[in-house]
Amino acid sequence: HSVTKPPPTPSPLRFSKFFQSNMRILVTGGAGFIGSHLVDKLMENEKNEVIVADNFFTGSKDNLRKWIGHPRFELIRHDVTEPLLVEVDQIYHLACPASPIFYKYNPVKTIKTNVIGTLNMLGLAKRVGARILLTSTSEVYGDPLEHPQKEEYWGNVNPIGVRSCYDEGKRVAETLMFDYHRQHGIEIRIARIFNTYGPRMNIDDGRVVSNFIAQAIRGETLTVQAPGTQTRSFCYVSDMVNGLIRLMEGESTGPINIGNPGEFTMMELAETVKELINPSVSVTIVENTPDDPRQRKPDITKAKELLGWEPKVKLRDGLPLMEEDFRHRLGVPKNA
Ligand code: NAD
Ligand code: UDP
Ligand code: UDP
Repeated sequence: HSVTKPPPTPSPLRFSKFFQSNMRILVTGGAGFIGSHLVDKLMENEKNEVIVADNFFTGSKDNLRKWIGHPRFELIRHDVTEPLLVEVDQIYHLACPASPIFYKYNPVKTIKTNVIGTLNMLGLAKRVGARILLTSTSEVYGDPLEHPQKEEYWGNVNPIGVRSCYDEGKRVAETLMFDYHRQHGIEIRIARIFNTYGPRMNIDDGRVVSNFIAQAIRGETLTVQAPGTQTRSFCYVSDMVNGLIRLMEGESTGPINIGNPGEFTMMELAETVKELINPSVSVTIVENTPDDPRQRKPDITKAKELLGWEPKVKLRDGLPLMEEDFRHRLGVPKNA
């Protein structure tokens, strides 16, 4: 009679390279402000291999300078509105201009990036079985009629306004994420990011923190857009990156608000920047742009409960860290 031979026992040594295989992570938009800080954090883990896909519209190679040539790092010039073929385990999908002056510059391209770009990344996630995280935005709440904003709030968004390419684009991106999840079983994570600040923000991108800091360093008047009583909540970038990684590694799909609940009026922000960076500058009120949300503050109960995450860096501690980077890039030392 025949004897069935037991299968050979794999030698742990011979197979170890398969069992200990690295985590391959794609970061779209990884040359941008938040993306490059995320890459720094992911690269700290020696088990991670990071691929960045970016078209350098608002991002730059300079933000990734220290990783170029590193054996666990790869940078691809790629536009996410085109299909992408890579083999990865996780996708952090950040690619999208985030500042109003950039996303309004070519609104059709912005909505294509949000819709076709997210569709392509979901198609990729489906083909390779990767988990995908989308960086959505507090702008999905529009000019909110509920305050602070909880994830259950559906928002108050103008579908035909000048911001719609961005906020409606992100709303469709969220819809696509959930449809791929329900229809194809893709593992998804959605972060709704609230205003984030820190080193490597574009100096002239028109956003309020970068504007005020650059103005204070250059000795120019701080431009508060009318009425100045509108509020925002600012999260330091290291807190943001920790929140995104917690979300990716956790069990919850989201959407989850990630932001700092500390709320400031734009006038208060101007006064704080003035006090910390250059008490001799003046503050003036200038005209605002249409559809500017009057108030914004995240409810982060979910992030605390589901991710065990909350921000640690206070505005007064984060602003000086950004000042240092801006002074370096503007070539204006502290006591010049
Ligand atoms: P950023 O502009 O610095 O980074 C975006 C990156 O995406 C850039 O490197 C840019 O070159 C790249 N990009 C843009 N269009 C692309 C395309 N079609 N193909 C490939 N790459 C493309 O912005 P950020 O502040 O780092 O924002 C990152 C993400 O976080 C965005 O998705 C943004 O919507 C979201 N977000 C940011 C904030 C914030 O306060 N910074 C708030 C809410 C949401
Ligand atoms: N896609 C991609 N990379 C992949 C797989 C798909 O960029 O590895 C793109 C593909 O070109 C398509 C989109 O993702 O436009 C959606 O793919 P899916 O397979 O879900 O849809 P279909 O190709 O059937 O329209
Ligand atoms: N803002 C301002 N001065 C500036 C730039 C912006 O007062 O130089 C205001 C703007 O009107 C808005 C707030 O700051 O109320 C935040 O604007 P930002 O563009 O930074 O972010 P978002 O509107 O996307 O939250």
